Amino acid sequence: MSIFLNPPIEAMTAYTPGEQPRDKAYIKLNTNENPYPPAPSVIAAMNAAEIEDLRLYSDPTAKVLKEKLAALYGLKPENIYVGNGSDEVLYFLFLAYGQRGAAFPDISYGFYSVFADFCGIEATVIPLESDFTIDSQKYHGLNRFIVIANPNAPTGLSISLGDIEGILRTNPDAVVAIDEAYVDFGGESAYPLMAKYENLIVVRTFSKSRSMAGARLGYALGPAALIADLEKIKYATNPYNVNRLTMRLGEATVDAEPYYQAKCAAIIRTREETAKALKALGFEVLPSRTNFLFAKSDKIGGGELYRKLKDRGILVRHFSNPRICDYVRITVGTDEQMAACLDAIRAILEESL
Ligand SMILES: *Cc1c(COP(=O)(O)O)cnc(C)c1O
Repeated sequence: MSIFLNPPIEAMTAYTPGEQPRDKAYIKLNTNENPYPPAPSVIAAMNAAEIEDLRLYSDPTAKVLKEKLAALYGLKPENIYVGNGSDEVLYFLFLAYGQRGAAFPDISYGFYSVFADFCGIEATVIPLESDFTIDSQKYHGLNRFIVIANPNAPTGLSISLGDIEGILRTNPDAVVAIDEAYVDFGGESAYPLMAKYENLIVVRTFSKSRSMAGARLGYALGPAALIADLEKIKYATNPYNVNRLTMRLGEATVDAEPYYQAKCAAIIRTREETAKALKALGFEVLPSRTNFLFAKSDKIGGGELYRKLKDRGILVRHFSNPRICDYVRITVGTDEQMAACLDAIRAILEESL
């Protein structure tokens, strides 16, 4: 780093993305990407004319995409904010609502603490219970910005809408963000609670269930007043935050809803079969409502398993945090990818006997 960098930025620790190594072709089960490509109609939406139109700015109002998302959820376009990945949406939420501090679980999406740091916000980090569940009572009456991933990452566990409602009800003067990056893999969305609570914002992404991690498209559902806050921050920083190609692909994606529901169902089936196979190998596997499995072996540590799988060309994610360092997080890929992963795990367990 240079001597010119502003000290608060110099002092903070930035986010570490899951590795994307280029040294050889890996079976990539480490960053919760979707193993299936976008729908054929989405691929067909991209053509030379769309690329020629890149000379024009994208629509800063995201009119068409917002209308399509609004129709999908039975909401109004003014209830929808569209951002450059849900990471940007989350960053804007910290900027908008973090002045009195921000509360989130100790084991959750790593970006929450990074955004708190980056924005100079005091973080209230609330430990998960020993079984990795969230005790929602611990979020009652905190009177500061709260963000909870539901389902949570990297545990894969979800909390009930009743629990979320308790948090909303007891924090009427604070915004509660529910990060639903994984909700399409068997979770229950909190957005219907918007009808009752003015302080709820639901964050979604096209990265996981919509096979568009590389396009960077996320959105928020919320009351018009909160959406206007996010729009203000967008117009203060980058009005063209979503590029034309991504916007067009996003529109086509919403139109292809049945394709994505079928792919989510396939991933859920593969997840359950993989969980069963891992348990048969002696793994403890947390019940997942996501496109990944969080699992620990009684025979091999998480770090060692991660390294040995990498040697065999399979990437999974390992976290050094002592609470979860025995575990690996395995993204659910295709049936073939999971069969290869399970074969590799069997071989590793045998050789370490
Ligand atoms: C992947 C992920 C995101 C980020 O999604 P992008 O839309 O790709 O920025 C946000 N929250 C959680 C919990 C995630 O796992």
